[in-house]
Amino acid sequence: MTEKKYVLAIDQGTTSSRAILFNHSGEIVSIGQLEHEQIMPKAGWVEHDPIEIRDNVREVIGQALAKADVNRHEIAAVGITNQRETAVVWDKNTGEPIYNAIVWQDTRTAKIVRELAGEAGPDKYKDICGLGLATYFSGPKIKWILDNVEGAREKAEAGDLLFGNTDTWVIWNLTGGANGGVHVTDVTNASRTMLMDVRKLAWDENICADMQIPMQMLPEIKSSSEIYGYGAKNSLIIDTPIAGDLGDQQAATFGQACFEKGMAKNTYGTGCFMLINTGEEAITSQNGLLTTVCYKIGEQKAVYALEGSIAVTGSLVQWLRDQLGIISTASEIETLAETVEDNGGLYIVPAFSGLFAPYWKDDARGAIVGLTRYNNKGHLARAVLEATAFQTAEVLEAMNADSGVNLSQLRVDGGMTANSALMQFQADILGVTVVKPKVAETTALGAAYAAGIAVGFWDGEQDVVANWCEDRRWEPQMESGERERQMRLWKKAVTRTFNWVDQDVQSE
Ligand code: ADP
Repeated sequence: MTEKKYVLAIDQGTTSSRAILFNHSGEIVSIGQLEHEQIMPKAGWVEHDPIEIRDNVREVIGQALAKADVNRHEIAAVGITNQRETAVVWDKNTGEPIYNAIVWQDTRTAKIVRELAGEAGPDKYKDICGLGLATYFSGPKIKWILDNVEGAREKAEAGDLLFGNTDTWVIWNLTGGANGGVHVTDVTNASRTMLMDVRKLAWDENICADMQIPMQMLPEIKSSSEIYGYGAKNSLIIDTPIAGDLGDQQAATFGQACFEKGMAKNTYGTGCFMLINTGEEAITSQNGLLTTVCYKIGEQKAVYALEGSIAVTGSLVQWLRDQLGIISTASEIETLAETVEDNGGLYIVPAFSGLFAPYWKDDARGAIVGLTRYNNKGHLARAVLEATAFQTAEVLEAMNADSGVNLSQLRVDGGMTANSALMQFQADILGVTVVKPKVAETTALGAAYAAGIAVGFWDGEQDVVANWCEDRRWEPQMESGERERQMRLWKKAVTRTFNWVDQDVQSE
């Protein structure tokens, strides 16, 4: 028998799908990657073609294996991580989706969400599912598909339709699709649907009934680390155990080895997602954070997290590049920001489609405030970068308030951590040490670890801790008085974005 030397992680992300092969030390051996189309039929609507995603996943697996000249006999297990909340509904007999995947950023369910909230308000289901009602989550997206696609509701009630986030869709297809594919998800992904009781780790009948979602279309909820099924006959990973499944942010927390209560990571990409491990207790936030499952290894108890999701961070840098044309590459923002000493009194609050944590205001819109004749594009660049750090600082404040302890160190990853000036400002404005690991692909790594642990390739979390290795750290240098002044001005800027959208212009 060939020795098992690798674990394959599949990262089905918002803009691309990737397959990454890791060795036993948690190092990257090869990567396959393909982008998929962002379909935007109307303002506020964002869709993906599930067939394109399915085919891309197959192809990137081929790329990763070919580049490393590895075949499935050397692969111990496959782990999946994915863009969370994005909803796919398909016909289990044909394997055909009945509608495009509705992506997490899509806001078409605003009206459904308002109606569900009714008199009770957006926190109606928060004690059960850990989440306030928002367009972000999967449940209302499933309801939209069943309400709007002809014949969908009848088919769902007859048991012909299946729902899944993209983890479920990928696993179902990899394990055989209409020919015996397994219909499963893990606790972390299920915790982003609004349909799961976050403490019982089971679908909640009442919420499903309120959203008119037949429970037979929901996948079976599994742990994040166990064998779900095996690669199908016609695939490159035939008979290989598929054994890890975590939503992308939870996978990054796992890959960052945040296994102890109070440890936190922040991922700086298109948006920012900060999670703090709260141990075996699911804490209901009083400060605008989400209660979510962090991971569950096999039969062990689930570990929970509080999450602060920020919609716009890296995408604000893209906006400066693509919409304003002030820079031509993302990294150019660093040199432009260095042309000035400070932000010159300028604050940009990127509430492009409302504000996520800790405010959750869908009627907010972006604002640039504090403008004077003195300001130039250097100040603008600086304010763009600082917006990411300020938003993160507000999430951290909420986390400290909810958990009752002050975080002392933040582990970071994601594309924006390439920007050292930003990381220094982040440490300054948080008053906390910021630390970056050697392997930046923490999301895929987390999925690989979950899969490898399930099959005994790694012994457990201690192997992840042993493999985690620091690359750089930034220590806070700002005086506390200056930090407080900056935060005061930022918070004032945020209040200027509230209540901008009037009911009569809101797209439904
Ligand atoms: P995602 O996984 O969400 O696609 P990544 O982790 O790949 O995101 O990070 C890409 C984001 O980081 C982009 O939004 C880009 O604008 C931003 N980015 C990349 N390089 C820099 C930089 N040097 N300074 C600031 N932002 C950057």
